Amino acid sequence: MPALPDPEPTGAPRWVVYVDMDAYYVSCELTSRPDLVGRPVIVGPDPTLGPTRGVVLSASYEARAFGIHSAQPAALAARLCPEAVWLPADFPRYERMAESVRALLRRHSPRVVALSIDEAAVDCPVADAAGAERFARELKDALTSELGLPASLGVATHRTVAKIASDRAKPGGIVVVPPDRIAAFLAPLPVGAIPGVGPKTRAVLESLGAATIGALAEAPGAVLRAQLGGFGEELRRLARGDPAPEVEEEHGPRSRSAARTLSADSADPDELAREVEALAVGLAASLASEHLRYQTVTLAVRWSDFDRVQRSRSFPSAQSGPAALATTAARLLYEIRAAEGRGRGRAVRALSVGAERLVAEEARQRRLDEFGAGTALTVK
Ligand SMILES: [Mg+2]
Repeated sequence: MPALPDPEPTGAPRWVVYVDMDAYYVSCELTSRPDLVGRPVIVGPDPTLGPTRGVVLSASYEARAFGIHSAQPAALAARLCPEAVWLPADFPRYERMAESVRALLRRHSPRVVALSIDEAAVDCPVADAAGAERFARELKDALTSELGLPASLGVATHRTVAKIASDRAKPGGIVVVPPDRIAAFLAPLPVGAIPGVGPKTRAVLESLGAATIGALAEAPGAVLRAQLGGFGEELRRLARGDPAPEVEEEHGPRSRSAARTLSADSADPDELAREVEALAVGLAASLASEHLRYQTVTLAVRWSDFDRVQRSRSFPSAQSGPAALATTAARLLYEIRAAEGRGRGRAVRALSVGAERLVAEEARQRRLDEFGAGTALTVK
């Protein structure tokens, strides 16, 4: 294990490696199916077994060459690539392998923040770009040789820049962005490459003439603030190569969710309650495997006409286990359906249960430990 870095660096930039596993569910499956390597492989409900309304969960790069991508309707994917091999999703396995990935990363770094099942930000105990690139290469090689899992890595002195770099590194590459190259690296990219810039924000930025991040850097700050508030200010700083420091440092990942598209639209309260409970229990198990507690529960409903509604409830303190998650999600379902019952009474197409304001299970203990040990805080 590399030496721990000085926890109080003297003004030197702190390097972070953003690790994004490639085609994660498919890659997990291929570790036990070497015969399928190099072929178009899709994890999702096999449409040849019967009509399905499900979606592609993960596609190998060979499948992507046919225009297949995650969240695409499975039936469409089957038409685009009839010879694709379909594999059913095995979430407990993907969770177990994600735990192995995190354990490997923690052996190399004093601080690893898991941001989703297949993404993590890893503090990099080095002083310069060359050292950060060597460190990223070590991580990538270890993931391949020990776990057989490919990953793309972005390396920068700011997590958002590192994440954007990891997107550009796909598949299987490493992209390093030194601090004095951030603005130049970002300039040619579309504004949609920035995490958090969805279709609505993109439309606003494009209406201001800022379709690329380079154009965003030139947009007048006052106009951005007027249109997008504090987020507009953050975007402008990022585009100019001077991103605001991350604020959620000690709080780890922001949210996790579990979603399901029903096999047929349903307004049956019992069926919907069962679905929500199953999602909540699965999500609680996933959070437990990551040693995460949650303080906010969210339920999102997509109606048969694709309209979407969402409600949340927060607890005064962080919770763990399935009970609080399941009962709160059930309560939110009741509220959403009651409000809908007074209106259009639409059937439900899809459900998503989310957990937000996540904190690491041992966070409190570790802060106490810090006084004696003087080591960096590890947020799992
Ligand atoms: Mg990924």
